[in-house]
Amino acid sequence: MLIDKNISIHLSCQQFECNNFEINDGESTLLFTSSQKSTDVVCPFCGGKVHVYDNSCTTLKDMPIWHNAPLLVEVKHHRYRCHCCNRSFSEDICMKCPRTRITYRAAKWISELLRWHLPINAVHEITGIHWDTIRLIHEEAMAEELDWRKKELQDKDYRPKYLAVDEFAIHKGHSYATCVMDLEQGDVIWVGKGRSKDSFLRFFQETDLGHLADVKAVAMDMNASYNILVEQFLPHAEIVYDRYHMQAQYGKDVLGAVRLAEARNHSSAARELENSITDETPPEQRRALRLQARQQRQLYSRLKKSRWTLLTNGESLSSENEENLNAILNDHSDLALCYAMKEEMCSLFELTDPVIVVNPATFTSGIRKFLIS
Ligand SMILES: [Zn+2]
Repeated sequence: MLIDKNISIHLSCQQFECNNFEINDGESTLLFTSSQKSTDVVCPFCGGKVHVYDNSCTTLKDMPIWHNAPLLVEVKHHRYRCHCCNRSFSEDICMKCPRTRITYRAAKWISELLRWHLPINAVHEITGIHWDTIRLIHEEAMAEELDWRKKELQDKDYRPKYLAVDEFAIHKGHSYATCVMDLEQGDVIWVGKGRSKDSFLRFFQETDLGHLADVKAVAMDMNASYNILVEQFLPHAEIVYDRYHMQAQYGKDVLGAVRLAEARNHSSAARELENSITDETPPEQRRALRLQARQQRQLYSRLKKSRWTLLTNGESLSSENEENLNAILNDHSDLALCYAMKEEMCSLFELTDPVIVVNPATFTSGIRKFLIS
């Protein structure tokens, strides 16, 4: 069996030497001591001579040996005081990642794990390193990557042609940010707090407009006032209302409104049929009226439940839902017309040839399909 005494190690890292290690409760510690002499150091403030006035010990987390088997690095280092200005400072620990209590190689390892898009929680589970430290390394790695990307694009004298602007929620809908993307390269080129027109104005104030001289089109939500600023700052760029927002808006304001109006019609028809039954109504007619009222209620409830069926793209529907959709559209011509227009609108975004767009035969085919049936 391997026991601690059988293992001897010697490690060195610049002025720090390690000849010893400890294992306590599955936690291993490498013990480093400094061999630096005060004659090798000068005061970082005035360049004067210094002396050691104290010794200090810093513990850093390193890469664990195995899962749940942490490795610590304990570094005994000097505190110096200057003979000239009397200021004190700590010896620099070369293996310590700045602003953290971990080693450089642990930071490098975390950074590599994050590059594989592992969530912070997972990296915390694997490394045993605190969530806040991982987040800090993540921010630094992203900033480094962004600088590198910026330089790469600058070197190529790259100018974006197609942009998209949109808002997104931070903190579950309590605050928002505005984001500008380069659609060709897939780069996020600007992010600012808020989602108002003024938030987007900052993008133009903070960006060199010469860099945007080649922009041909900007995709956006039709409801935000982004178009006003694009017309002002990029007068040559086309404004494109993107499919996602158009579809969502149409689903809510047109399909949703027509569906609810049709549902209300069924509900009031059912009520009228039920109210028309009096004590004088012959039993046979009474049965027929009740049956009709029940049918109206069924149509009402089917429409109330059809929100997602109507909003889902036709080709993504299951065969059962497709059958349900066709039954609804057959019974409701207004809804059928609106639905066909939605499908047409979506198909417009898939066209690549502008000539097809102005061909009325193509444009109305979907509508006709539903009107005939
Ligand atoms: Zn000094």
